[in-house]
Amino acid sequence: MKYVLFSDIHANLEALDSVLAAAEKEKPDQLVCLGDIVGYGADPAECIARIRDLQETKGCKVIAGNHDYAACGKSSYRGYNHLAREAIKWTMSVLSPADKKFLSKLPLTFSDQNIFGVHSSPIEPEQWHYILDIDDAYLNFQAFEARLCFIGHSHRPVIFYRNGHIDWEIKDTLSLDPASRYIINIGSVGQPRDGNPAAAYALFDTGRQVVEIKRVEYDLAAAQSKIRAAGLPDVLAERLAFGK
Ligand code: ZN
Repeated sequence: MKYVLFSDIHANLEALDSVLAAAEKEKPDQLVCLGDIVGYGADPAECIARIRDLQETKGCKVIAGNHDYAACGKSSYRGYNHLAREAIKWTMSVLSPADKKFLSKLPLTFSDQNIFGVHSSPIEPEQWHYILDIDDAYLNFQAFEARLCFIGHSHRPVIFYRNGHIDWEIKDTLSLDPASRYIINIGSVGQPRDGNPAAAYALFDTGRQVVEIKRVEYDLAAAQSKIRAAGLPDVLAERLAFGK
């Protein structure tokens, strides 16, 4: 079975379309979207439409991110930095009631026999904790049953693994060790922050027991000019070029 998983689209339609075109070539059995469909970028409604279509036509599993919950009024954005706050306020002003209702109904976790998925952390998913170091990973490995947990949220791909001890590594291709458990951050479609501006997604092939983090180029200039045309903060356009 092949899973294609993607996260943190952040209303970047050009990046999403590039990822979906690449994903189609993988011929996945299951698509999984780990949340943050909206926020930061200029095409929140269009990105929601794409994801809803994938859900209806291809059975894509979709869970909520913190920006999705903030944009529909389900959680507070008071603690956000000013860029995120401005983007959320703008997003709220352009989304339809139907779009907000869609976001408000998204579940916080995904699971099947092979994997667990959550936007931020298995511990208190609705509190949007980050898993950034070994201590965070240690606590979170105790909060899910599956062997593998896929997450987004930090926009930086990283693999935490537990096999007696817990450690982490950053690499594009991971051959799963049968004795290990994993928490895998799959990076971001629409606003990568690992210094690589290309859109990220993950492919998990259960037959080969391999997880790959893949990167695809997209029309960055188009996404940037839409952000500027919408009157969103210029830095939200600029950062896309640097992947930070
Ligand atoms: Zn995000």
